[in-house]
Amino acid sequence: MILKSKAAVITGSTSGIGLAIAKALAREGADILLNGFGKPDEIEAIRSGIEAECGVRALYSGADMTKPSEIAAMMEEAEGAFGRIDVVVNNAGIQFVSPVEEFPPEKWDAIIAINLSSAFHTVHAAVPGMKARGFGRIVNVASAHSLVASPFKSAYVAAKHGIAGFTKSVALELATHGITANCISPGYVWTPLVESQIPDTMKARGLTKEQVIEDVLLKAQPTKEFVTVDQVAAIAVFLCSPAATQMTGANLSVDGGWTAQ
Ligand code: NAD
Repeated sequence: MILKSKAAVITGSTSGIGLAIAKALAREGADILLNGFGKPDEIEAIRSGIEAECGVRALYSGADMTKPSEIAAMMEEAEGAFGRIDVVVNNAGIQFVSPVEEFPPEKWDAIIAINLSSAFHTVHAAVPGMKARGFGRIVNVASAHSLVASPFKSAYVAAKHGIAGFTKSVALELATHGITANCISPGYVWTPLVESQIPDTMKARGLTKEQVIEDVLLKAQPTKEFVTVDQVAAIAVFLCSPAATQMTGANLSVDGGWTAQ
């Protein structure tokens, strides 16, 4: 168990990729703080289930990643409860699909806040403790859209390119402190985020659901298969392992060959 006696904060971990990463880190012995939205009873079942399965402490914070004060309070809660934050996984994210001239400005602001700025706020809060302990792992869940673009996703692509740059800058600053910062860049992973953008893409491009899946989503992915949440989580665990000590500032693609084209 590579994370025994360590503690991790995973944003947006009530669903999808974040939940898979939270479970994978807990299976490696980390105490975890879960975050994200959802039905209270379902979140409590997830939280208590992880504690029971993994024998770790699991907390939940409903902090809204658009609100810097709530992010700061969440980080303080984790540091106070666990006495440390060793791993920060910036995963919370939303999508909105629209032509740029119709893109609602409030959606632009929300995507930049959740998908990009929240990572600044968590890292800003966690780094002093990581430096003091001489150990830290910052894992940012970016996207193939941190490397290439698609039409109708201007805010998402801007935020994901932004987080790739933020990761590199932080990696350089922290390189001599035992702290690494890396991005994982998945292609299409079958999660609620992907499923929920299908209707808007159908509307924006005038396609059926099947056409969106085959001709838009998996068109970009040479393997013609969705990535699984567990495949992404395995990379996050690897980045926390001693084998990854010399990996920092990297952007790891797990995209079925998408960005090799
Ligand atoms: P998801 O919708 O299943 O999960 C998103 C999580 O973020 C949920 O827990 C949700 O409650 C939380 N969240 C949303 N808004 C929030 C807010 N304001 N404050 C706090 N939490 C909030 O999505 P997912 O597909 O698992 O996506 C997770 C990350 O992976 C995102 O950053 C996404 O951009 C990235 N990603 C996903 C794919 C994909 O194909 N699914 C591909 C590449 C990158």
